[in-house]
Amino acid sequence: MLVQNCIHAGECEGKDASLALARDILIAGTQADLLAHVNVLIIPIYNVDGHERRSPYGRINQNGPREMGWRTNATNLNLNRDYVKADAVETQAWLRLWNAWQPDLFIDTHTTDGEKHRYDLFYDATQGPETAEPVARWVREQLLPDVLAALTADGYATLPYGQLRDRKAPTEGYMAGWSMGPRFSTGYPAACNRPALLVETYSWNPYARRVRATYDFLRHTLRTLGAQRESLHAALRNADAQCVAAHGGGRDGRVALAFAHTDQHHPVTYHAYQQVLHQSEITGDTVIEYTQTPLDVEIPLFDGIEPTFTVTPPAAYLIPPQWSEVIERLEWHGIRTFRLRQAHDLDVESYRFDDVSFADRPHEGRQLPHYKSTSIRERRHFVAGTVVVPLDQPRAKLAVNLLEPAGSDSLVAWGFFNAVFEQKEYAEAYVMEPLARRMLSEDAGLRREFEERLARDEAFARNPPQRLDLFYRRSPYADARQNVYPVARVGEAGVVQRLKAE
Ligand SMILES: [Zn+2]
Repeated sequence: MLVQNCIHAGECEGKDASLALARDILIAGTQADLLAHVNVLIIPIYNVDGHERRSPYGRINQNGPREMGWRTNATNLNLNRDYVKADAVETQAWLRLWNAWQPDLFIDTHTTDGEKHRYDLFYDATQGPETAEPVARWVREQLLPDVLAALTADGYATLPYGQLRDRKAPTEGYMAGWSMGPRFSTGYPAACNRPALLVETYSWNPYARRVRATYDFLRHTLRTLGAQRESLHAALRNADAQCVAAHGGGRDGRVALAFAHTDQHHPVTYHAYQQVLHQSEITGDTVIEYTQTPLDVEIPLFDGIEPTFTVTPPAAYLIPPQWSEVIERLEWHGIRTFRLRQAHDLDVESYRFDDVSFADRPHEGRQLPHYKSTSIRERRHFVAGTVVVPLDQPRAKLAVNLLEPAGSDSLVAWGFFNAVFEQKEYAEAYVMEPLARRMLSEDAGLRREFEERLARDEAFARNPPQRLDLFYRRSPYADARQNVYPVARVGEAGVVQRLKAE
């Protein structure tokens, strides 16, 4: 079991809880039996530089401790968005640890703010459609019921991590159960067929109570893990075997890359405080003021998640060797690859990008593209040294998440292929003009298309460079590789085996 604390270094109770637990296991001996069947790795402070940037003002929504660290690392990256792109040295070191130790269970500890209520601890877990079914079932049936019952017996109020649909109207319901993508610490293990737990104690509780809640969560999880180790190992074996056989796909053979809440809900008693709405002179809107009067109210909890986009994985991906930043990351992620010994012309599937635009602000230090991707089939030349990513491996689902452009955590979505979207050669108008005239006279279809466009698209009709560009794009001088994904999909396992054997 790997316990990680202080990824958001201002949310620091996990550090104290972990060290207290280590003390009680190793020195006081009061919890020594927890190690009978489990090895525990503890990262007391993951975001070390954020932890040292400490002050009383690191967390405005949080009740102590007197000083706390900062959310981001020294290069202002949120490490809890970095698990796929691995831009931070912390992430690169974490991936080495993850692959060297291969933990069976991962826990990340946090503090959450949000509306005022009477809960101690919120949790999320890999139990939705983003997780291999045997692992999700183990979390749902073997792990969570035991741990939550023990916490309730200790007197803690717990709730799945989420948020009210409308804070000003709690009876509208509560949304829980994200399907976190692999950019998140607790989404990443799911892409590797491993379970993960997110723990969020409540920011307005006193610090000591938050430490104690985290301590007890870790203690109960360790005990359950020890008792359920055989069922967990069976689930992990099944999940990896299914992943290898289905190239990362689930029982339907497909990999889900986008998810949404369904309308599925069930009633819960929500432990709130009575609230009154004031008219605010500052905002001009109503603002919530919480009273000290407890209020228990029955509300619907929405926790159904379903895939909204799935993809059939290929037998392998092919990555031209010049995309070294991408290839390097696959290695960091423990994804097995091999290189072509000689050049090949192969029939492959890939994608063309349309409607490309860019976000107007950076996100986590990157410029994120927006695009639509359309499947294409073509014969492509692959040089010797091209990297082949066969998907008959336990990291296949992670590879699909990284390499299918439609996934919101794909390397295309994170901006690793942005240069592909750029036009790098342009025609001079005095060169293009006679060529365009000739194309117009020789191609009746093109003339019809041009005239129709002029008639229906006024902005186009009034834009001379755009009118000329229409002809440039149809000429043999246009860049046929612009907006085309350099990575290719090979569908046949036999082709991959032949490439590997040569
Ligand atoms: Zn956090």
